[in-house]
Amino acid sequence: MMKIYDVGIIGGGPAGLSAALVLGRARRSVLLLDEGKPRNRVTREAHGFLTRDGIAPAEFRRIAAEQLGRYPSIELVEERAEGVSGDDGRFEITSAQGNVYRVRKLLFATGKRDLPLEISGLSEIYGKSAFVCPFCDGWELRDKPLVLIAAGERALHMAKLLTGWTDQTILCSNGPSGLNATERDELGRHRIPLWEAPIRQIESAGGQVERVLLEDGTSVSCEGIFFAPKLEPGSELPRSIGCEMTEAGTVIVSDDFGRTRVPGVFSAGDAATEMHQAIRAASMGSAAAAGIHMELVNEAWNRLA
Ligand SMILES: Cc1cc2nc3c(=O)[nH]c(=O)nc-3n(C[C@H](O)[C@H](O)[C@H](O)COP(=O)(O)OP(=O)(O)OC[C@H]3O[C@@H](n4cnc5c(N)ncnc54)[C@H](O)[C@@H]3O)c2cc1C
Repeated sequence: MMKIYDVGIIGGGPAGLSAALVLGRARRSVLLLDEGKPRNRVTREAHGFLTRDGIAPAEFRRIAAEQLGRYPSIELVEERAEGVSGDDGRFEITSAQGNVYRVRKLLFATGKRDLPLEISGLSEIYGKSAFVCPFCDGWELRDKPLVLIAAGERALHMAKLLTGWTDQTILCSNGPSGLNATERDELGRHRIPLWEAPIRQIESAGGQVERVLLEDGTSVSCEGIFFAPKLEPGSELPRSIGCEMTEAGTVIVSDDFGRTRVPGVFSAGDAATEMHQAIRAASMGSAAAAGIHMELVNEAWNRLA
């Protein structure tokens, strides 16, 4: 007889790991599959997670695995889930390694993935001196000359946000900014220069950005970059089993416990939100675990009622 786990978690970042912890402590049998490609693996330090501020992402995972190891009902498996099928109470997960697992409930904690960075020189500095979230990495770049690479609504939003950390931001929209006269005026009043020429190349040394070179010959010196990344879902599996997704590729959940519209299927972390922070992902994972546990309890209770 094939083992049936109470819960199958796909994705072992802060969301999936936190869910596993809560479920393990609730004496649930848990299978967590993770292919080990979290979005923040490019960064040296993760910030803003109370008690873990400044930790290397790999160290965060090492501590998590050590703590989960105390709970015998949790199995961590380094495999990529390639297929999911079935219905509430009886799902099947097929891994790229050819294994098939049965689970009663499913939690997608599959995160988001960056689309290839199209600007020459950006991938060399991503996570070292180029970042996407000022709340995560703004402190380290405080009061420094920064380049913001963004266009449209997002550009104005991020330019405004960055004033909390520095008054030396230059906006490079890498092509037409899409900003109207009022918005340009707003930038001007806040002394944020706007360069619209396409970016030819970012120059750096050892991960430290030095300047952004534009096609019109302009050279913009800076010590850090923030940019608006283009993202896709970490996995297409939620969509394949019927979960509703937003245009941005976020799983739509209907409550604080991460319930999707598919019975027995939950989602948490970056996969299910557009606010990407590790502590938020962990909190969503923890709440989803509580929701899943309660659903299993109710089902068992009602069978005997
Ligand atoms: C450069 C950078 C720096 C950041 N810095 C910070 C910071 O300082 N502080 C902060 O709070 N946040 C930071 N973040 C955001 C933070 O990393 C994310 O919000 C957080 O990791 C989301 O956790 P998660 O568990 O939802 O997803 P992830 O951590 O992305 O984990 C998802 C996991 O699921 C796995 N997976 C996906 N599909 C499958 C599949 N089919 N089978 C098996 N496994 C699968 C992936 O390989 C991955 O391991 C940063 C992000 C980036 C990109």
